[in-house]
Amino acid sequence: MNHPPVITIDGPSGVGKGTMATMLANTLGWHFLDSGALYRLLALKVLRVGAGLVPVQLVDIAKNLDIYFKDTRVYLDNEDVTEAIRQEEVGLAASQTSAFPEVRQALLERQRAFAQAPGLVTDGRDMGSVVFPNADVKFYLDASPEIRAKRREQQLKASGISVKFGDLLEDMQKRDRQDKSRLVAPLVVPQGAIEIDTGLLSKEQVFEKILSEVKSRLRSNGGV
Ligand code: C5P
Repeated sequence: MNHPPVITIDGPSGVGKGTMATMLANTLGWHFLDSGALYRLLALKVLRVGAGLVPVQLVDIAKNLDIYFKDTRVYLDNEDVTEAIRQEEVGLAASQTSAFPEVRQALLERQRAFAQAPGLVTDGRDMGSVVFPNADVKFYLDASPEIRAKRREQQLKASGISVKFGDLLEDMQKRDRQDKSRLVAPLVVPQGAIEIDTGLLSKEQVFEKILSEVKSRLRSNGGV
């Protein structure tokens, strides 16, 4: 392989992509990109400056986003916004701004630049279909909206954010509809992706499946 290997994990919100991608990146000792965080950072900046949803303005903000990732923290304009970007309001705004083709284009190269040796594990909505169509291993995780909303509720609670389950479920379903129906880079099962229904599986069971697929695929590609 003469390009750094890439593993993509796509799926709807709250399905556990981020958890799996982080665990996998740590296990392999590879880089990790949470592409949703990029769209959330853009949305937070847009909400803060009060810009309208005009593509030209959004693209300008996207191109000049002053962000960085350090350990497990995320920074915008040198401010730690790790918790702030997790608010459901920011997720919904991210889903709206990310529907503009110009915005996706503006963030494309930024995402591809994360593919560095020894390898990259990344999660999102279009990582295996658009950003890294030639990824070495692709996964698509799914589960019912109710199960995903329950998991997201627990995740938010653990970070001290309290939410109503009904509101969370409604927001999540709205976001799923937007992400699946947009014209550019909609959420789809990428070609060649291994599909896993995580609904009835524990975190450990999902990770075991992912790791065993990764090991066998990379071995047959002559990789790790
Ligand atoms: O994954 P997360 O829920 O953090 O993503 C927030 C929003 O960003 C998604 O609902 C989706 O609209 C957008 N997104 C995207 N493409 C990605 C990752 C996220 O459009 N690769």
